[in-house]
Amino acid sequence: MSPPRFPLPPGATIGILGGGQLGRMLAAAAARLGFDVAVLERDADSPAGRVAAHTLVAAYDDAEALKALAGLADVVTFEFENVPAAAVEALSGLGVEVAPGARVLAVAQDRVHEKTFLNGEGVATVAFAAAADAAQAAEAVARIGAPCLMKTRREGYDGKGQRWVEHAADAGRIFEALGGKPVIVEAPADFVRELSIIAARGRDGSTAVYPLAENHHENGVLRRSMAPARASAALTDQAERIAVKILGGLDYVGVIGVELFEMKDGRLLVNEIAPRVHNTGHWTQDGCEVDQFEQHIRAVAGWPLGPTRAIARVEMLNLLGEDVEAWPRFAAEPETRVHLYGKRQAKPGRKMGHVNRVKPL
Ligand code: AMP
Repeated sequence: MSPPRFPLPPGATIGILGGGQLGRMLAAAAARLGFDVAVLERDADSPAGRVAAHTLVAAYDDAEALKALAGLADVVTFEFENVPAAAVEALSGLGVEVAPGARVLAVAQDRVHEKTFLNGEGVATVAFAAAADAAQAAEAVARIGAPCLMKTRREGYDGKGQRWVEHAADAGRIFEALGGKPVIVEAPADFVRELSIIAARGRDGSTAVYPLAENHHENGVLRRSMAPARASAALTDQAERIAVKILGGLDYVGVIGVELFEMKDGRLLVNEIAPRVHNTGHWTQDGCEVDQFEQHIRAVAGWPLGPTRAIARVEMLNLLGEDVEAWPRFAAEPETRVHLYGKRQAKPGRKMGHVNRVKPL
């Protein structure tokens, strides 16, 4: 009889699809637990590749590279939810488990599937309608009512692939401006705050939730998170129930980020789920007992989940583009922990790093 695969012992290799900053921080956490990491990434000089034991430089759907990854890795995870489903299927066919799995990707890659799944689990979202052509887009806007948001169903991130529709008459034009691809039309959420909750589920079905973070965006991109967010016990309880429902409904293994709108009446609506470690969870690196990166590695490796209690109050600031040049100032602040991603070029708006300003609880 072959020995049980999980928990993976130290010395095992964890594969990561994607070589960005999330992969880099996952790789660092994995190394701390004694694992090797193999990264599959198109860019030969990626943030994660430079800290991983193995890097395979290829597209996610490159059959040879997937075979090589399957040969190296005992389990595979991803740092990026737009990994093609075919890559996950190919890895499964080669006998390597991908966590979280293919179903999770199918739900998270499509905004209509995502909201349909959430509502099916009894988790509230804004009202929405799907449209696949300009005429349907006009109908969807008429049904939801302008002003409303039109977003591409797939591949939008950081506010890209979405536009406000101020007047119903603009629906067709905006549909075309978004590329003429299938869209979702969403009712506007009149929220008082944007919050998020990071949570994890282990291979044994156990769950762990982190304290809420309060998030501030600029031009659709996260600028700043404050955590633990000021929140009543009832609000915290509501968020935790939502996270646990989602994790259970997806039979999830790993860390998930759940973006929430806090409404005036105290209800929480889910904006979207990220089936991976999440930018609004970076504060946990310096604010919690076990951070989201180690937690994800623990979960996919079949280790027990770690404690998620806050040990500090953190203000997390994203360093976008040239913000990163202020690193000497941040490094000189005793209360500030600097996390840089090793990206060679600071393009405007590019996530170059973040800092966690740490204060006592
Ligand atoms: P998303 O790409 O869906 O995460 O949206 C990016 C940001 O746009 C969110 O963090 C919100 O600030 C805003 N947003 C998205 N959807 C809505 C909505 N239905 N109503 C109001 N604001 C929204």
